[in-house]
Amino acid sequence: VDDQVVVIVVGAGISGLSAAKLLKESGLKVLVLEARDRVGGRTYTVKDNNHGPVDVGGAYVGPTQNRVFRLAKEFGLQFYDVSEKEKTVLNVQGTWAKYIGTIPPFWNPIKLLDLNHVIRTIDRMAKEVPCDAPWKAKKADEWDSMTVKQFIDSIVWTRTVKELMRIFIASVMCVEIHEVSLLFALWYINSGGGITRLSSITNGTQEKKFYGGSQQLSEKMAAKLGPIVLLSKPVIRIEQDEDTVRVIDNQGSVYKCRYVISAVPQALLNKIQFEPPLPCQKLQLIQRIPMGSIIKTIMFYREPFWKKLDLCGSAVSDTGIVSYCIDDTKPDGSHPAIMGFILADKAREVIHMTKEERRQAVCEHYRNVFKSTKFLQPVGYVEHNWMSEEYSGGCYVSTMPPGAMTRYGRYLRDPFGMIRFAGTESATYRAGYMEGAIESGERAAREILFEIGKVSKHQIYQDEPESPDYPASSLETSMIEWLLPSVTRLIQFTMGVVLGLLGNEILGWLTGWRRGRF
Ligand code: FAD
Repeated sequence: VDDQVVVIVVGAGISGLSAAKLLKESGLKVLVLEARDRVGGRTYTVKDNNHGPVDVGGAYVGPTQNRVFRLAKEFGLQFYDVSEKEKTVLNVQGTWAKYIGTIPPFWNPIKLLDLNHVIRTIDRMAKEVPCDAPWKAKKADEWDSMTVKQFIDSIVWTRTVKELMRIFIASVMCVEIHEVSLLFALWYINSGGGITRLSSITNGTQEKKFYGGSQQLSEKMAAKLGPIVLLSKPVIRIEQDEDTVRVIDNQGSVYKCRYVISAVPQALLNKIQFEPPLPCQKLQLIQRIPMGSIIKTIMFYREPFWKKLDLCGSAVSDTGIVSYCIDDTKPDGSHPAIMGFILADKAREVIHMTKEERRQAVCEHYRNVFKSTKFLQPVGYVEHNWMSEEYSGGCYVSTMPPGAMTRYGRYLRDPFGMIRFAGTESATYRAGYMEGAIESGERAAREILFEIGKVSKHQIYQDEPESPDYPASSLETSMIEWLLPSVTRLIQFTMGVVLGLLGNEILGWLTGWRRGRF
């Protein structure tokens, strides 16, 4: 027991370590207690001699994730671009097409209008949802009373576009569209910069990867913090009175401090006993934020033969086991590979399979989607099932069903006595991502710095300046995209014209009759 410790941070993911780093740099004595025998939490780089470093958790960053770039620069970590020169495959509702970029250019004008309209509408609605207080959106109650599926079904005409939206939600949140509140999804999309930013490689969220893997960010922070980061210390109880907090691990060791930052996924707070108990709103909240379902897979091949087929390795698909995949070859061209996400219901469906069966299913999926039997001859396979991780409970992030955000969202960051809450779920910017983990960790640290008079209240929430090394290009909607009508408008317009013409005919006929032409 060290009476000098001011803050104990529970959880050595990116969020907890960012909090501890800022507090230590501000001169406070800090201790970090981590349940696993490693740091990094949802970022995990498997160091495998056969395949080089493999990110089986969070991996991608892109423009607008400026806090990640700032920390990476501080530790001398570098990035490389994910390969996207060749074509992406779209394999949805029987449509098979190769295209360049993010948005599939449908030949069918109805699908094109439908897709343009749904993206434009959701992005516009998302901008109406305040990132720091989504429950304050003008239409918060209305949007929180329906699922994303109900909304999509109400404005989208074509099955292909409905399916694309289902895959988009599964790819960014690891849930099905009938599981998640529309308000929650709009908030998540706004905090991530919109649909195009979230789903793009170039100029988007999947643009870059860390040379050597993303877990290094946590490892570097932990190395800088030194021996104050204690591993294999699952916290099971937190007691607080007037001026002391006692944090107890599963071995019964007691650590005393003045403040605690909880940087564990909030859905897991149920596993920690609090004395006094958490306030009832917080207890209710943590029963309404399930973690997503995902198995991340990486399939290795002798050569990146897909490049010769003019394919970059990306595919969006509603058949087979993998909904979204990207080239995962190392930047020097070694270890050619395809990374594939098994998401939401598909992840739940395949848990009963053996690893070998999943490997076979993934290979067959690539054969079908990329139309080459060479995908059936991999030289290696790595997968990680995040649903079986005791200290994550699923990934990438927790989401909310209808009714939760308006009723309980405000308790995500509400302090409880001496305890402050961090973790990517509690971020106001890029929640669910590594960027959100840093933002929330540093914010929680500044909440404590404010309490002890080291910063002022208005300094608690801070914007991050844009990285000079990785500036973002604008993603403004083009004039054409704005002007294109929705399918509904097009039908109304066509009906109007037809009825107008018919009306004229009938009027002409009637006036002719009245004038005694018949
Ligand atoms: P965590 O990383 O979950 O850290 C919480 C820590 O608390 C963990 O280390 C955990 O072991 C510890 N803990 C839990 N319970 C206890 C306890 N009782 N006592 C002590 N310690 C405890 N993000 C991106 O930016 N880009 C991506 O491309 C991306 N893709 C992803 C793909 C996958 C497959 C996954 C899993 C995640 C992905 N993410 C991505 C999300 C990103 O990894 C997370 O948002 C981020 O790492 C969360 O950090 P955190 O510190 O908030 O939480």
